[in-house]
Amino acid sequence: VKKPVLLTAAMVTAALAFSLTVVPAQAQVAPEATSRAQATAAANLTPEQNAALLKQIKDLLPADYQSRSQALEQKLGLDDSAARNLVQQAINPGDYQCATTPLIDWVTASLKDMSINDLLNVLVVLQLPTYYSLAYESDSTPQTFGVNGEYSTTLEHTFKDLKRFWNLPTPEIQLVAMHGSILTDPVKAGEAAQVVYGLTDEQAAAFGELSAEIFDQPQFDFGNHPIFTFNSVSYASGGKEDFPGRGVLPNKIVMGDGVMDGLKAVGLGDVAPQAILAHEFGHQVQYAYGQMDSDLTGPEASRRTELMADAYSAYFLTHPQGGHLLWKRVADFETAFSDLGDCAFSDPGHHGTPNQRMRAAEWGYHLANDAQQQGHIIHGPEFVKLFDAALPSIVAPDAG
Ligand SMILES: [Zn+2]
Repeated sequence: VKKPVLLTAAMVTAALAFSLTVVPAQAQVAPEATSRAQATAAANLTPEQNAALLKQIKDLLPADYQSRSQALEQKLGLDDSAARNLVQQAINPGDYQCATTPLIDWVTASLKDMSINDLLNVLVVLQLPTYYSLAYESDSTPQTFGVNGEYSTTLEHTFKDLKRFWNLPTPEIQLVAMHGSILTDPVKAGEAAQVVYGLTDEQAAAFGELSAEIFDQPQFDFGNHPIFTFNSVSYASGGKEDFPGRGVLPNKIVMGDGVMDGLKAVGLGDVAPQAILAHEFGHQVQYAYGQMDSDLTGPEASRRTELMADAYSAYFLTHPQGGHLLWKRVADFETAFSDLGDCAFSDPGHHGTPNQRMRAAEWGYHLANDAQQQGHIIHGPEFVKLFDAALPSIVAPDAG
């Protein structure tokens, strides 16, 4: 069952409890840390200032802003957000039980010094970097990946390899970045809010100014906090205009800085950027050959396409003509990434359980590794037949 984003009275009550627990902790810092803590406190806005900004930003938005955002998320398939569940867990620890894993612990720790109003401010804009990248980012301007461009070379090479490997008939797929710094850019933040919430130009400009004021704080890494970009997306318009005024957009893969930083922080920096990109490219293979549709419906349908993307990813990553990575490293990545699924997807059918995701990846690895001709590539139309035949055994042990 999905829980809608609701800024309820219960959350505001929790806010008071939350700030009360935070204040004593700040008072106990060691002497040598005090000057740094004071500098940080001086540069961060007070909880009252953040609350006032939250009120201003909500006053700007249409009354139905939450349902608008949810409708767009559903249309684009963004409605299961690991980032949002982690923020909501930080606000109401009882309601969202994410698994305890190194990756989730890393994100949770990054949120723990934010007050409730800071977290509520975060929730209002959480998907805006994704929307900005989908609607406005284009590879006609040079893309850099990572806050300091640290993933650019790897992703560019892997993207080139993926295009060669899968050799899709799709005319154009763009690889674009997602940076949290759009939140401190009044123009970009305003543009993102405008396409989601249908703001007028004046409202969008005001939203952009407020966003820049809120997120240009040390506690948000001046917009670069990983929670804002803890996401990756594979997009195909299907010939529709999804963002008003933006026309029919090219297919895009959006890579968020934050999710790559998180996996790097838990020791998977050598494999995570390639593996996430290969999974998202797997969805492009599905779009190109019309593989999204099957006899399945509801969670079973999306579980099939997600597990298939995991299989496409592992096949490419371990194939001698593809990423040529060691299965051990790919499996380590799958473990970290599929555990995240526990947190993000409260319906276990939606993306598959961690066991099912691992078996789908193993299946892809064996398909690459056990082949008679090691150089041969099984392309999308043949791959999907083999995958669909194997799917019952991939899901079986956890099918319940
Ligand atoms: Zn996916």
